[in-house]
Amino acid sequence: MSIQNLTILGSTGSIGESTLDVVARHPDRFSVFALAGHTQVEKLAAQCRRFQPEYAVAADAEHAARLANLLRDADVKTQVLHGAQALIDIASTDQVHGVMCAIVGAAGLPSALAAARAGKTIYLANKETLVVAGALFIDTAKAGGATVLPVDSEHNAVFQVLPRDYTGRLNEHGIASIVLTASGGPFLDTDLAALERITPAEAVKHPNWSMGRKISVDSATMMNKGLELIEAHWLFACPPEKLEVVIHPQSVIHSMVRYRDGSVLAQLGKPDMRTPIAYCLGLPERIESGVGALDFDSLSALTFRRPDFQRFPCLKLAYEAMHAGGSAPCVLNAANEAAVAAFLDGKIRFTDIARTVAHCLDKGFSDGLSSLEDLLALDSETRRRAQAFSDGLCGVKTAMAV
Ligand code: NDP
Ligand code: MG
Repeated sequence: MSIQNLTILGSTGSIGESTLDVVARHPDRFSVFALAGHTQVEKLAAQCRRFQPEYAVAADAEHAARLANLLRDADVKTQVLHGAQALIDIASTDQVHGVMCAIVGAAGLPSALAAARAGKTIYLANKETLVVAGALFIDTAKAGGATVLPVDSEHNAVFQVLPRDYTGRLNEHGIASIVLTASGGPFLDTDLAALERITPAEAVKHPNWSMGRKISVDSATMMNKGLELIEAHWLFACPPEKLEVVIHPQSVIHSMVRYRDGSVLAQLGKPDMRTPIAYCLGLPERIESGVGALDFDSLSALTFRRPDFQRFPCLKLAYEAMHAGGSAPCVLNAANEAAVAAFLDGKIRFTDIARTVAHCLDKGFSDGLSSLEDLLALDSETRRRAQAFSDGLCGVKTAMAV
């Protein structure tokens, strides 16, 4: 078996760390060629000492200098780089076979696209890439000869239960629909009136999954499931009307595919991202992930319910953006990223996230945006609009507090 050289983008995050945990279990299969963190340089330095990559990328010159300093006395050959171009370089160099795309947000798009253009095996955790630039990314991956493997647990589950020779044409494979499961997050049964007062600390405390702060808030608003609908639409070439969402609070079934004959195939497991990561990294083999066996004795019940748009307006907004198509999902994502950051900074209320996204989506969209530059410009413009709107809401929040 030849060793696979990996680049791990977002190595200091939740998915990045889980990836390194799986990689460390298989030194005969994987070698870490490059790691990219952003601001957590101590963690990145520790990863460099352990995995000895050729390159490590930090956010900017200042973080890179700190990283280089931390590695100065260690016996590490790693070259320290910084900035967006360095991310593109380590994602597309000939020396790399596989790229884990686990940067959070639209910031992960240019490097994922570079990996697609260069024909890499892409382990895609960064769902925002497909939300912002679904058509561009899929077309680029096809043209570049890249293989895109879904790391997101729902899409990974669907991928596992689709026919092996699946071509992206649902009808030919007898597929009736794709059913994404959602935990419903920490506020599934919270009194609606109390949602206004949810704090960032409460919102990032997911009942089942341990994840980064942004995706944890997205799970609490269910924007995460909305982004995942759009992600599934592009990954599986699935029309919006064949995508379903069902709330399943136990997070045991990670998603399902309904077939024409009445069968429903599901993938089950513990809520631990090392399972989908190991599935992608090991293909076509199943490899050890460190995740223990699912214990049926401790499962009391598996329950299901339909999502309620009054409680989860972000999910409704995402459905609307998916149906609108064109640049609407890019606007949805940028507005959401800006609003979640404002909420985590204590500037707006939890319920203001949906208000901000709705405000930005109100403007109407252009269909003609197809280049990375166009999409990034729209992303920036939307963040400015969202910020201005949030600043107004921030005044309201302060006035309410006094
Ligand atoms: P985290 O917040 O834990 O980690 C984000 C990573 O991205 C960190 O390494 C961070 O660096 C880096 N980063 C942040 N901003 C930038 C930037 N502007 N440029 C380059 N790197 C940056 O996020 P998660 O690991 O939870 O999520 C990563 C992606 O995977 C997201 O798109 C998320 O939706 C997706 N995902 C996550 C799941 C999970 O269970 N966590 C499940 C399914 C999908 P640093 O910390 O050093 O600043
Ligand atoms: Mg998911």
